[in-house]
Amino acid sequence: MIQINDYPYLYETHLHTSQSSACAQNCGYEMARAAHEAGYTGIIVTDHNWGGNNCIDSHLPWKEWLREFSKGYLDAKSYGDAHDFDVYFGYEAGYNGTEFLIYGVDIDWLIHHPEIKNAAIEKQFQLVHSAGGMVIHAHPFREDWYIPEIRLYPDSVDGVEGINATHSCHKSTSHNEKRFDEKAIAYANRHHLPMTAGSDIHSTNMFGGGVAFKRRLTSIQDYCHAVLSGEDYVLTNGDYVFDRYGNCYKGAYIK
Ligand SMILES: [Zn+2]
Ligand SMILES: [Zn+2]
Repeated sequence: MIQINDYPYLYETHLHTSQSSACAQNCGYEMARAAHEAGYTGIIVTDHNWGGNNCIDSHLPWKEWLREFSKGYLDAKSYGDAHDFDVYFGYEAGYNGTEFLIYGVDIDWLIHHPEIKNAAIEKQFQLVHSAGGMVIHAHPFREDWYIPEIRLYPDSVDGVEGINATHSCHKSTSHNEKRFDEKAIAYANRHHLPMTAGSDIHSTNMFGGGVAFKRRLTSIQDYCHAVLSGEDYVLTNGDYVFDRYGNCYKGAYIK
């Protein structure tokens, strides 16, 4: 039995801002404030990268492109710094509809590793790893017009987004198919890959998804280490709580 009071530190691990994601409705500052007010301990900003639905001019040189790309995160962080609220950097890497959440590398690393831009999925895994980061397959079983086919890379990821609140939270109004999560949970378990949860949130209407810990995180590297080392944490889609293996329990963090 899981008691959510034992895991009071909730983090949104999949969040978009309008400065960098073409599909997002609110800026980083507004997203951070909404998450804080909803009860989160922190957020990881994961805007769509150069291979996804971003809104940055693709003709900009690499460094300038990244500078623009980081604006949503920096805006969120300005809120976080002023309000004792954790804001960490990540991004969502798109490969023709197949997407990965990248954690543990920062803008400076990206500036100095332009080879990541054209890296194949296997190479991305190597590069992010060599930087001490981790790769999580985002919503691997989502079906939609922008995803031509479901492609799985169990050997080129560190973990799987088993729960995506956009699929399974009652507040979500798009991609609302619980079976996408059920398949992702089964896939992660089949390959003994650690699981994460996030909302894939694009506006300040918080779904309440995320990963909850017994302690407050200290950095994005700390988050990566917690996931990879098998630390005791729980997952939530805003409506229910799940253990690390995707077993569902009653209890919600965000009302
Ligand atoms: Zn999006
Ligand atoms: Zn996303």
